[in-house]
Amino acid sequence: MSNERALREDIVTNGLKLTPSGLSQGTSGNLSIRCGDGFLITPSGVPYGEITAEDVVLVDMDGRYEHRRRPSSEWRFHRDIYTARPDVHAVVHAHPPYSTGLAICRMDIPAVHYMIAVSGGDSIRCSDYYTYGTQALSDAVVRALEGRSACLMANHGMIATGADIEQAMWRAVEVETLARQYTLALQAGKPVLLTDAEVVQALEKFGNYGLMSKQASA
Ligand code: 13P
Ligand code: ZN
Repeated sequence: MSNERALREDIVTNGLKLTPSGLSQGTSGNLSIRCGDGFLITPSGVPYGEITAEDVVLVDMDGRYEHRRRPSSEWRFHRDIYTARPDVHAVVHAHPPYSTGLAICRMDIPAVHYMIAVSGGDSIRCSDYYTYGTQALSDAVVRALEGRSACLMANHGMIATGADIEQAMWRAVEVETLARQYTLALQAGKPVLLTDAEVVQALEKFGNYGLMSKQASA
């Protein structure tokens, strides 16, 4: 099987995991994987259960494609994340309830748990709001992702990146778990945040942890 064919299958397989993992429903969200000089991305508006490997759209860095399907309406931010971040090889965008709930409140996720290290820093930022599919939204999410592997998107959802699609999916689930824990803590009382030194220690240890250790970086 060619590399492109295998990556097309990876998009289909991981798209099918979005709903059972609680990350998205219906046609919300989109997935991409870097491929050659461009990237493969889910088609726009097609339910995950109906996407075949042939439906996945190959887009170049100028946004050009030759396909009967249109690429995801969010191809711009996928493209711009790959341009800004050579370490990123896969991008997952979803609308999971807890991450999106915090994003509706325009809240960042601070250092509420050592697993904040999945973000690559001491917080998961929430980007400014812009209409879906626009260059302004893309510019905002690239800013929110500076020095980070994930971000929230105001009144919209979240983005997780990875060195491969498995790592990006894993990170997306971890971000949603952090958002859920933070939401519950806010309801229970006043969350106590980790100190800068505690976050630095978690980040240092995290380089060797689980899926992170198999990947180069991102
Ligand atoms: P697409 O179906 O075009 O990928 O749109 C879904 C989405 O989440 C837009 O932000
Ligand atoms: Zn979306």
